[in-house]
Amino acid sequence: MVLGYLLARAGIRVVVLEKHADFLRDFRGDTVHPSTLEVMHELRLLDRFLKRPHQEIKELSGIVNGEQVKIVDFSHLPTQCKFIALMPQWEFLNFLSEEGQKFSEFDLRMEARATRLIELDGRVAGVHAESKDGSLEVLADLVVAADGRHSDLRQAARLELIDLGSPIDVLWMRLSRRPDDPEATAGRFAAGHILVMINRGDYWQCAFVVPKGGNDEIRAAGLEAFHEQIVRIAPFLSSRIGELDDWDKIKLLTVAVNRLRRWAKPGLLSIGDAAHAMSPVGGVGINLAVQDAVAAANLLAKPLLDGRPTLQQLVAVQRRREWPTQMTQRVQLFIHNHVLRRALSSAGTRDEHPGLPLVLKIIRHFAVLRRIPARLVGFGFRPEHVSPDIIGASRSLSA
Ligand SMILES: Cc1cc2nc3c(=O)[nH]c(=O)nc-3n(C[C@H](O)[C@H](O)[C@H](O)COP(=O)(O)OP(=O)(O)OC[C@H]3O[C@@H](n4cnc5c(N)ncnc54)[C@H](O)[C@@H]3O)c2cc1C
Repeated sequence: MVLGYLLARAGIRVVVLEKHADFLRDFRGDTVHPSTLEVMHELRLLDRFLKRPHQEIKELSGIVNGEQVKIVDFSHLPTQCKFIALMPQWEFLNFLSEEGQKFSEFDLRMEARATRLIELDGRVAGVHAESKDGSLEVLADLVVAADGRHSDLRQAARLELIDLGSPIDVLWMRLSRRPDDPEATAGRFAAGHILVMINRGDYWQCAFVVPKGGNDEIRAAGLEAFHEQIVRIAPFLSSRIGELDDWDKIKLLTVAVNRLRRWAKPGLLSIGDAAHAMSPVGGVGINLAVQDAVAAANLLAKPLLDGRPTLQQLVAVQRRREWPTQMTQRVQLFIHNHVLRRALSSAGTRDEHPGLPLVLKIIRHFAVLRRIPARLVGFGFRPEHVSPDIIGASRSLSA
């Protein structure tokens, strides 16, 4: 959607195919980071964007056996928005589609599922799709596979996926929030378990981290045992844990960390989750996908205005985005293996109630260190800025 918007704004005809009838899927993550907010600012969309329902998180904490440490403090970031905006993905996507539709070049087709690639003369030349009005063919100078972590198009293109593995899965759930609850959005470590609780105003979005494949064992032990585990980590939830009265209210996210060896072939480019699924650590998936879109638009708008981008021009997008992707995945895997796996494996052992890890003790005493994770989470390794050519292409409309 972001790439479609940017290219349409640059004057390039774009067809965006979306297989669903709407964007209402709960829960797909909703952390819009300072890097993405900066892109909105550069596009002069920020004021309108921030009028949509959202909350602002200015810091993130860790709570180890009841002891709280502020780990991330966004207040010093040199950027427009020194916070993460929590906005449901459907709000974000509806916003972008409404802004996109202000350009005649932007053509969003809902309920249109790309089913296979059209290949001509050794290059991808379009897609077949099934829509509510029947089959359709879209011929294009470039097909972008931005169809998520189970990408149909990258499979159709036979692009090789490198699986980096993950020792964890995550169970997502919602619990109501009460006025006298703590404020902090925090990761809670206790009794060999990890519960991340995101403050969404009148409810908590909770992520319970489990060892890979641990979901079956948890379900086999029953809901009551699950309730007990949650309450041991966050005792104030005991008054409402009964809201989770059905496993349907607890969704499994099978965590995958992977990336394509090659993101492009003649006529086709993969970006976002289709090119690299990220761990939920840091909540960076949406933001990396947006950064890919900005880089792709910056590098490809001119070649697309001139005709068909060459393979070399498509590979330039991978070259630009592969390093930040790899570095982010490296940090995530380090956290999986050295923080999360260790914390989970301490369940039922003498280490079940450890004190604060050294790194948190240091961060507690040297507040300035909180700026490092703030930059990594807020900006990432290579923040992208929208090229003035794209911003300027429609100055009168966006002013
Ligand atoms: C449970 C869960 C929680 C998450 N939490 C966070 C979070 O807190 N913060 C964060 O940054 N990231 C989070 N993520 C990751 C984040 O959702 C993704 O990284 C991000 O959405 C990737 O964007 P994308 O555009 O590449 O892919 P997607 O958002 O997956 O978009 C792909 C789109 O393509 C459509 N589509 C798929 N196949 C076809 C087809 N054949 N034809 C037409 N349309 C198709 C899909 O319907 C979808 O709308 C979470 C993911 C999950 C599953």
